[in-house]
Order: sequence, then C-alpha cells, then structure tokens
Amino acid sequence: MKHILMLSTGGTIASEPTDHGLSPELSGNDLLALIPELEGLCRISCKEILNIDSSNMQPEHWIRMAHAVSEAQDAYDGIVITHGTDTMAYSASALSFMLQNLQKPIILTGSQLSITEEGTDGKRNILDAFRTAVSGIPGVFIVFCGRILCGTRAKKMYTKDFDAFHSINAEDIGRIREDGTVEVKDFPRQIKDFQPDIRLNPNICTLTLLPGMDPKLFDTVLDLGYDGIILEAFGCGGIPNQERSLLPCLKKAQEKGVIVVIVSQCPYEAVDLTIYDVNVQAARLGAVSGLDMTLETVTAKLMWVLAHTIEPETVKTMMHTCYAGEFTI
Ligand code: ASP
Repeated sequence: MKHILMLSTGGTIASEPTDHGLSPELSGNDLLALIPELEGLCRISCKEILNIDSSNMQPEHWIRMAHAVSEAQDAYDGIVITHGTDTMAYSASALSFMLQNLQKPIILTGSQLSITEEGTDGKRNILDAFRTAVSGIPGVFIVFCGRILCGTRAKKMYTKDFDAFHSINAEDIGRIREDGTVEVKDFPRQIKDFQPDIRLNPNICTLTLLPGMDPKLFDTVLDLGYDGIILEAFGCGGIPNQERSLLPCLKKAQEKGVIVVIVSQCPYEAVDLTIYDVNVQAARLGAVSGLDMTLETVTAKLMWVLAHTIEPETVKTMMHTCYAGEFTI
C-alpha cells in the first residue's frame, strides 16, 4: 500500500464558526477522521505545518511548505497539502518553481465549505486529492471539484462555486470520475533529477493599471526600492503613452535596473508586446511580457527568479524560460 503524507495548512476546509467569522480550528487529523472512505486507499501520515486562512499566507510560508515537502519526499509516495482556496494558486506556483522535477505527486486541495458544514465539498476534495496522489502522477497539482490542474496554470475563478478553479490557457491535466477513477491526460513530464531550489525574493509588487492612473503612483513605487514590478495592463499589454503617459516611469525603471513584467487584465490568452503602439513603446523601454502566465504564476516566478539574479537581461531570459509548464511554448 502506498504511503501518503498529508500536510495541513488551514483554510476554509479546516475552519469553524467563531464570533469573528470562520477561522481555521481543525487539525489535519481532525480532517482525516471525518473521511472514513480513505480507509484502505493508502497508508496516511499527517503533519500540521500551519493553521491559517490563506489570505495570511506569506512567501516565507511557501518556503516552509517547500522544505517540508522536500524533506519528506524520499519517505513517502506522495504528498497532499490542505490549503485555503484564496491563495492556493500562488502557493501551487511557488512550489512548482522551488520543487521542479520532483518525481512524486504534490497535490494541493481545499474546499469552499468547511468540512463540518452540511453539503461540504471538503470530503470529496480530500478524497480525490489522495486518489490522485496514489495514482503517482509526478509534479505539483491542484485537485478541486473533480479536476486535476497543473499547479502553474490554476486560478481561482469563483468566490463560492464548488467548481472554483480553472486551468488558464491550458487544458486540465485530468479528472477524478465519480467512481473514483483517476484519469490523466498525456502531459509533458519533467525528466531531470530532482534538485530543490528553495529560495524567493519577495521584494516585488503589483500595480493594476486603470484609465486615468496617475503616473506619480508608479513613480513613487519606483522610489520604494522594489527589485521587480508586475504591471497588470490592458488587453495584450497596453500601457498609456499619451495623457498620463507611463513611459517616463518605464524609462526610470529601466535606468534603475528594476524589472517590469506585464501581465494582462484579461484572464485568457497571452500578452503580446509587438502589436500596438501602446505595447511596442513599452517593450522598447524594457518591459517584459508575462506571456500567457497568470498573475499568480508571474508573482511566484518573479520572486523565484529574482532570488537567483537581479540582472535585467538574465531575469528576462529566466522569465521566458518554461520551468514547470507555466506558459505555452
Ligand atoms: N479564506 C479561505 C482561505 O483561503 C477561503 C477558502 O479556503 O476557501 O483560507
């Protein structure tokens, strides 16, 4: 029988009502005790590494999670991580970059309703996560509402619907049928040796453009000393270059050696900085396309890349290198 480790970190799945709203209270063992169907599927060990709402998740917590996985991976056939849904996609991406080529399944899951609530999706999701871990599929995945999603492609699309996570710009990796069968499509496997690379530089920020945004805001942010800035721009990467032009800010970023990565406010398809005047001029001032990566993935990847180098050309090369299936080649 396979031996799967569950690492619990909190989230709605582990929450109970309090006088200040839902708050994580249940331990990993409490969760497991509520799912008798796990009996006979695999041997299970459990360790609580955090018990927080995932809105409180920090890059330091991603590092702690990555170390916990890396240290345990030899002794187990797979690892299930229970996690709040709100920032699960960020955590999945961060783990994907720090734990590349891990030849075991790392499955993140959670739920929209607490496991003790009537009609909860928590039991199904944990059961499906274990089934997927037992299947042996290597890599970091989110399992939610029957879907198996690549960790660098998943995005929380609904605040309350059970089918909350969708795969952006890539197909689902597979699904778990109602009878519990795990179906996995053919997907590119990582075949290099596992070499944990657990480091992040969290010194980045995100600016969301809006029509009329005052360039002073961008300018002020540039003076705060970030190593990287993610700009959530319009359409395929449009940046104002007439009234309230942001081009002087991009020039200043370039001169200071601050990397600016452009992601789109559209969830689907890619940034393309070669099409319009409002793209091309920004690209000429060093703005780096986020390609078809999600904001969550660009955030985690930029932190990981900037922990290796802050030299702009190398950062750009690394941002445009696919490490964990994160963009379409
Ligand atoms: N606020 C919760 C969290 O992210 C939401 C959830 O888990 O569904 O921890």
